[in-house]
Amino acid sequence: MSDTENGSNNGGEEYLFKIVVIGDSAVGKSNLLSRFARDEFDAHSKATIGVEFQTQTVVIDGKEVKAQVWDTAGQERFRAVTSAYYRGAVGALIVYDITRKDTFASVKRWLAELNTHCDTAMATMLVGNKSDLENIRDVSVEEGKSLAEEEGLFFIETSALDSTNVSTAFEIVIRAIYDNIKRKVL
Ligand code: GDP
Ligand code: MG
Repeated sequence: MSDTENGSNNGGEEYLFKIVVIGDSAVGKSNLLSRFARDEFDAHSKATIGVEFQTQTVVIDGKEVKAQVWDTAGQERFRAVTSAYYRGAVGALIVYDITRKDTFASVKRWLAELNTHCDTAMATMLVGNKSDLENIRDVSVEEGKSLAEEEGLFFIETSALDSTNVSTAFEIVIRAIYDNIKRKVL
């Protein structure tokens, strides 16, 4: 891995930020990533199939910023996400499914795991996915919001299915990482 994986500024103009996506199995992590990186949704995605990471470029303040977004690719089913997965990450999305309370209850465990592997000050977004399934919602917007406030996380609800807020979720995290780095440099 290059020395840019910790998010440091590589000689002036290039930025590469490693961002990890975590959360229970089937909450929509892989689909959020494929929606963000390739604008694709896969209704039949298998938990076992997945690439390690995808890189997407966004422009912030006229600078190209590369987000290298990592997908657990099914490891999370066995609660065996390795420390290598977290290594060098400077941003995270913790995803739950708004129709499944159990996945929301797991958020604290994912956050604890993240905090054992990464800087607790990293840019982290709590993501309530599947907002298109309003009719079978089981976690209210308020519950999501107040947990995020309690834990000092950003919060957003998304739908990988209909594209709602997906790029916004990633862009807020990327912008926050960028601002963190600028603050350190100044
Ligand atoms: P992962 O295990 O967290 O990576 O979840 P996947 O991305 O594989 O998605 C699990 C299942 O949820 C699949 O059947 C997806 O089609 C479905 N899914 C993912 N995102 C959404 C969404 O935003 N809305 C709806 N309705 N289904 C979704
Ligand atoms: Mg997956």
